[in-house]
Amino acid sequence: MTVSKKIVLKFPGRLVERPIVYRLIKDFDLEFSILKASIVPNEEGLLVLELKGERDNYRKGIDYLTEAGVKIQPLSKDVTRNEARCTDCGACVISCPTDAFEVDPKTRNVKFISEKCIACGLCIKVCPPRAMELHF
Ligand code: SF4
Ligand code: SF4
Repeated sequence: MTVSKKIVLKFPGRLVERPIVYRLIKDFDLEFSILKASIVPNEEGLLVLELKGERDNYRKGIDYLTEAGVKIQPLSKDVTRNEARCTDCGACVISCPTDAFEVDPKTRNVKFISEKCIACGLCIKVCPPRAMELHF
């Protein structure tokens, strides 16, 4: 049976330059599409993948990633902002790995660009008035 899932991988800096994801193809016969990537040498890397393959291979591939030190989380469905609650405090801006927030240099208003969001949930934890909402 084939499974296909969207997942978020977080790599510690020491793993960023190793061919970890390549081994998913070579050793576990999995296919993947990269939906988002944010990788800087020696810093934590982030990849959002759609990973597909036979169920057993999928499980082995995930075990391999976990044992290698990669943190894996499922891609949550949707993140929205309750505009009425947002105070433009800017706390979300530095927490977002995909730069889904932009500060208007004139007004200092914080714009949420939902197309860039990978639903990692980090901004939800740091938003003081709980304006960012996660929907499953
Ligand atoms: S959930 Fe928040 S921090 Fe994560 S990508 Fe989306 S906007 Fe950025
Ligand atoms: S942390 Fe919350 S309140 Fe502050 S700018 Fe971001 S969304 Fe708005």
